[in-house]
Amino acid sequence: MRYGLISDIHGNLEALQAVYQEIDRLDVDDVLCLGDVIGYGPDPEKCIELVRERASVILAGNHDHAPIGLVDVTYFNSYAKQAVEWTTAQISQETRDFLESCPLIHEFERFTIVHSTPSNPSAWEYILSIDDAVENFPYIDNRCCFIGHSHVPVIISKSSNEQIQVQRLNKIVFQEDAKYIVNVGSVGQPRDLDPRAAFATFDDETYQYELHRVRYDIGKVQRKILDRGLPPFLAERLALGQ
Ligand code: ZN
Repeated sequence: MRYGLISDIHGNLEALQAVYQEIDRLDVDDVLCLGDVIGYGPDPEKCIELVRERASVILAGNHDHAPIGLVDVTYFNSYAKQAVEWTTAQISQETRDFLESCPLIHEFERFTIVHSTPSNPSAWEYILSIDDAVENFPYIDNRCCFIGHSHVPVIISKSSNEQIQVQRLNKIVFQEDAKYIVNVGSVGQPRDLDPRAAFATFDDETYQYELHRVRYDIGKVQRKILDRGLPPFLAERLALGQ
């Protein structure tokens, strides 16, 4: 089965549509969403609708939980807080109920998906360093764990002789004698200095993984962000990929 892995869409409809077009072109059997469908971007409700149409499993991220009061936003920065307030006013009761029902982690036979960390999905911690990864490898029972949350694509592996490797490859076949933590990047707000939308494909028979990047109309999304009175920084960062 070949999966399309999408994460951190953040209400960016144009990026999501561009990713879906590419997913249609590739031979993808199913779509899985790793969370943060909303927050920051100008089209939360439409993004929820489109993700629900295509993805068989949709995880909740911290930005999906913030507008329904399941995440304490005290530690969000000011523009994130403003975006949460705006998003809260946009989403329907049905969407709120749906977001509340989304799991934080899902284990398949051959791989796991989680928004933040497999060790403690509800703490919303980040895997940014080798130490963070080392802490999390014991919680992975299968060969690979796909994550989102940081918006930066990366592959961290641990070999059978405990060697840790950090790689920024676009294509890899996961080896049998190793474990992998893989960040699939962000559809709607990339932060690796590449403004193109990111998503991944993974074949659970061949263990082939590939990161894809797609261009979309960033200007259109920026105009919507400004028109809707969201913080201008949220528009600026899309063009910079940070
Ligand atoms: Zn996010």
